[in-house]
Amino acid sequence: MILPPDPPSGFDWSSHNTYSVSLLHRHSEQRTDETLVQRHLDDPQRRLMMLFGDRVLVRSGRADFEGNAASALFQETDTQIFLGLDPEGRPWFAGEFRSEPELEPGEALVDLRSLARDAIVGSDSFGPLAQARATLFWHQRHRFCGVCGAPTVSIAAGYQRNCTGCGTQHFPRTDPVVIMLIQDGEDRVLLGRTPRFEAGMYTCLAGFMEPGETVEDAVRRETKEESGIDVGAVRYHASQPWPFPANLMLGCYGEAISTDIEVDKAEMDDCRWFSRDEVKAMLATTEVGKLHCPPRLAVARHLIEVWADLK
Ligand SMILES: [Zn+2]
Repeated sequence: MILPPDPPSGFDWSSHNTYSVSLLHRHSEQRTDETLVQRHLDDPQRRLMMLFGDRVLVRSGRADFEGNAASALFQETDTQIFLGLDPEGRPWFAGEFRSEPELEPGEALVDLRSLARDAIVGSDSFGPLAQARATLFWHQRHRFCGVCGAPTVSIAAGYQRNCTGCGTQHFPRTDPVVIMLIQDGEDRVLLGRTPRFEAGMYTCLAGFMEPGETVEDAVRRETKEESGIDVGAVRYHASQPWPFPANLMLGCYGEAISTDIEVDKAEMDDCRWFSRDEVKAMLATTEVGKLHCPPRLAVARHLIEVWADLK
């Protein structure tokens, strides 16, 4: 049994995933320079993206606003996150509406999944939007200190909150999730579905990593829990920011060392082995009801496609 090969030297699978592509350089070194950040905020060329939960304000196929539109929107948010500089050196920020906004003609609030699935904005906006969503969500959930309960305040251009009581520094969180394509010795892969999936869709198994656990052990544990399958060798393949709300998907391949499936009915609707021909047919259709794989925006599909193309 052979895991899919490593990519050619220097090739970065991760950079091709949805929510990975960004036109911005984050310039994290600038965040603590308050004078510089203020200069960026005052820059007439600055751009602003506005979110309300997992929905993004969109107008004319763009999620970034400039000029007077940006100035007006800056009044609608208490949190300003410096996202970085674009290739022209323009500073980009993100903010969150305090309440559901009144939309102007031609505007829409579109959720992050639909934005990507329907290509409503350019693909290089998804990286900044994932960065914005995860960071804004963290701000919402860390308004008070987890140590002493006092209010916290945002500093470092939105990348840190300090407690006003005990001084503890709090930093944005990312929750790692392993997602894995497990193959057996008979050229089959293990795919499953949960009850909330649309009819016919099967995908890679996945689960949150636990504290004090390696990526490899998380792959083995989650696969065993959900399918009853034992996994031996595991290899990391690619990662993907997954802003629902603040996950990092760690895509892996693994080799099964057992084949008898025992589905965890508490979590899974079904789980089974699929042959390479079956998988190729599933990749070729998106018809709800027919057996199919997840859409292109998911790293699971990437893992499945790379495997399916091996032979
Ligand atoms: Zn505190």
